[in-house]
Amino acid sequence: MTLFEKIIARQIPANIEYEDSNYIVIHDINPQAPVHLLVIPKKPIPTLNDLTDADRELVGGMFRVASQVMRNKGYTDYRAVFNCGPGAQQTVFHLHLHILAGRTFQWPPG
Ligand code: 5GP
Repeated sequence: MTLFEKIIARQIPANIEYEDSNYIVIHDINPQAPVHLLVIPKKPIPTLNDLTDADRELVGGMFRVASQVMRNKGYTDYRAVFNCGPGAQQTVFHLHLHILAGRTFQWPPG
């Protein structure tokens, strides 16, 4: 079981911002901005490399959940990031979208 499956199963506690039948949105334990959320599909897909055509709707829904949650929190400016693979600093191999907000961001990212 991945760390995020354990959070979904309530085996590990998390600060949950939103949940529905397909997604859970939690606050990152090590936030890199005043707001740092993780949008996690309940289906355990390891990385972006593992997506199939069957996942198109699920992945699109991650962005819709993100935009709704951020609108509800009053943010229109934020960064949305997938880390894919160890070389891109992915550490939890269960697909998740980072949403960061509440500070000024630099480009390019580090
Ligand atoms: P990745 O590095 O895979 O893109 O992102 C994984 C994220 O999960 C990291 O930002 C890390 O801080 C976060 N994380 C790791 N362990 C936990 C945990 O137990 N709870 C929560 N809420 N976030 C975690």
